Amino acid sequence: MTFDRRDVDGFFIDGALRPPSSTERVEVVHPANEEIVGSVPRSTAADMAAAINAARRAFDEGPWPRTPPAERAEILTAIADGLDKRIDELAWLSTAQNGMPITLSRQSQGIELLRFYADHVDEVAWEQRRQGLAGTGLVRRTPVGVAGLIVPWNAPSLLMNKLPAALMAGCTTVVKPSPETPLDTYVLAEVLQDVGLPPGVVNIVAGDAEVGQYLVDAPAVDKISFTGSTQAGRTIMARMAGRIGRLSLELGGKSASILLDDAPLDVALPATMAGSCLNNGQACIALSRVLVPRSRYPEVVDALAAMVAALPVGDPFEESTFVGPVINAKQRDRVLSYVEIGRSEGARVVAGGGTVPGRDKGFWVQPTVLADVHNEMRVAQEEIFAAVISVIPYDGGDDAAVAMANDSSYGLSGAVWSADPHRALEVARRIRTGTITVNGFTYDIGLPFGGFKQSGIGREWGLEGLEGYVEYQTINLPAGL
Ligand code: NAD
Repeated sequence: MTFDRRDVDGFFIDGALRPPSSTERVEVVHPANEEIVGSVPRSTAADMAAAINAARRAFDEGPWPRTPPAERAEILTAIADGLDKRIDELAWLSTAQNGMPITLSRQSQGIELLRFYADHVDEVAWEQRRQGLAGTGLVRRTPVGVAGLIVPWNAPSLLMNKLPAALMAGCTTVVKPSPETPLDTYVLAEVLQDVGLPPGVVNIVAGDAEVGQYLVDAPAVDKISFTGSTQAGRTIMARMAGRIGRLSLELGGKSASILLDDAPLDVALPATMAGSCLNNGQACIALSRVLVPRSRYPEVVDALAAMVAALPVGDPFEESTFVGPVINAKQRDRVLSYVEIGRSEGARVVAGGGTVPGRDKGFWVQPTVLADVHNEMRVAQEEIFAAVISVIPYDGGDDAAVAMANDSSYGLSGAVWSADPHRALEVARRIRTGTITVNGFTYDIGLPFGGFKQSGIGREWGLEGLEGYVEYQTINLPAGL
């Protein structure tokens, strides 16, 4: 199924599409062939200011923060239904914008988190009478206020990791998608209008880092929830310190797939490869380091190299494609430079390592395996954000594997593999990452997700995901009330 090129005029502010402040436009480029798939106005600080004002007004004067949670839950369900009806269009737009393989685009719209919070609304203690030490108090989960939601381009679900929780908590929001991927959020805006979400509860202004910075700096914004690079997260955190702004960060990763010496390679290697090359490797949770006991190193390197070399690379709209293009020329050049850095550090390229033959349009890098990597090399420590797998040997048993996995400034994801799941579980308990899977690579929106160390602060998903959008208020009650 294909859809037409989309050219949009305006930004979704205060419940309607409002004219932009500038006549300049931003074209959206399909990374597989550089065709233009749409365009949007270039946003300025004035557009962002209008969105922030609308969200502030909707929070201070509008009904949403005071709407009973059960009624908010009904709206969340209606939004999910509305998005589900347009899933083909949403998936098509995702693939058109960022080259995500179409099979993944269909699964990555994040709609299920709307249903999760709606379905679990009664499990949250929104307002609870509690006995303290001096008397009775009412402990209330109140919305944190106006929440700015800043997201990168690599998956549409990243916005939906935030918006359902923010809405369920009663926040009003300003959404800032990346300039690379603005188009799908216009479908979301139409659905929000259709379900009758009050004006100003969700405002959407795609834009560059400067426009994002305006949102971060705005005193009227109570909370920023940011997903993106650790570098930008650091800047945002510093800038919010002045006003003690509330902040959640979902940042980068350099996660390890840890093979113990009895790992079942027939399942561990295909899953590790899929986890490394997921979304063309442009996934924060990618298993970009593979830690292998020296005794099994040659067989693992050979097998992974063969598997990666055989991966279907190509048109992301083809159902059979597993690896598509990277987002843009800058990212392609950055990835290729990392391959060179790896070579210069002594790594051996055993699969891929270059551009994709025959693809002279678009931005292509072959999925790549680097062998003979040491954990202190840059290719083992820095996030490359592409399908580049560093295979690292270790000596000295499980303790050495744990130490190596934890020797990273990141702590987002991971996997541990062993024929004995109890042994793998013991290793998993010692890994300093927010999520890790025993004998698999699983992501479950019903359970909390987030980073240790420089991979972030706070949690999304699960009921814990609501906490980032809530302020606790305690009202001490007099006797008799
Ligand atoms: P990026 O940090 O450059 O940009 C992310 C978003 O923030 C964009 O919308 C951008 O316009 C905006 N932005 C950038 N600098 C800003 C600033 N100073 N103030 C306000 N807004 C600013 O990241 P990217 O290259 O778009 O995305 C890739 C990164 O995102 C990778 O590091 C990846 O690991 C990370 N990521 C993390 C998760 C997670 O859940 N932990 C998920 C996906 C991606």
